[in-house]
Amino acid sequence: MARHVDPVCALCRREGEKLFLKGARCFSPKCAFESRGYAPGMHGKKAQFRRKESDYARQLREKQKARRIYGILERQFRRYFEDALRVKGLTGATLLSTLERRLDNVVYRLGFADSRAQARQLVRHGHVTLNGRRADVPSMLVKAEDVISVRERSRQTSHFKMLAETLGEQPVPAWMLLDAANMSGRILNLPSREQIETTLNEQLIVEYYSR
Ligand code: SF4
Repeated sequence: MARHVDPVCALCRREGEKLFLKGARCFSPKCAFESRGYAPGMHGKKAQFRRKESDYARQLREKQKARRIYGILERQFRRYFEDALRVKGLTGATLLSTLERRLDNVVYRLGFADSRAQARQLVRHGHVTLNGRRADVPSMLVKAEDVISVRERSRQTSHFKMLAETLGEQPVPAWMLLDAANMSGRILNLPSREQIETTLNEQLIVEYYSR
């Protein structure tokens, strides 16, 4: 499966804000954005003093930011948008809800991984089950009442042994329920806009694709 391969921290610097793509490192002094919070490249430092961004530039940046946060390539992201257009209701909210329902995001939100990238790897390597069955496709979308668990055998790996000591310390979104002792989580309902914690302005993304 295609994926982004450029230096991850450059993405935060390009978007002008921390996107928290690297787990614990993002909260440490090693975060590249803390020391170099300007766009990468030769003219990155100067770019921050340029004149105000156009509407188009703001819409484009918001769309790129969303893609980078969720780790999705353009073609698939556009497909999510087109699917959201066909659903009754607010397109932007539907789009965000779909992104949140991805299995890799759910694994991350439940606290089984430090970042979405790590969650994606855990899913791909077969450490996660969905309703008791092995699920190794990060883009699978969860539904209400689905149960996501760490595979029994995987709980003996060093990652999950360490995780067992801290799992449950961080709150999980209101649309899911974590059972830390059993390393599993249940989807209570599909995420509503209010239940999605994000700095994204989904309306700008809708405007970008509606030009
Ligand atoms: Fe972004 Fe995290 Fe890298 Fe900081 S450490 S620049 S927040 S990915």
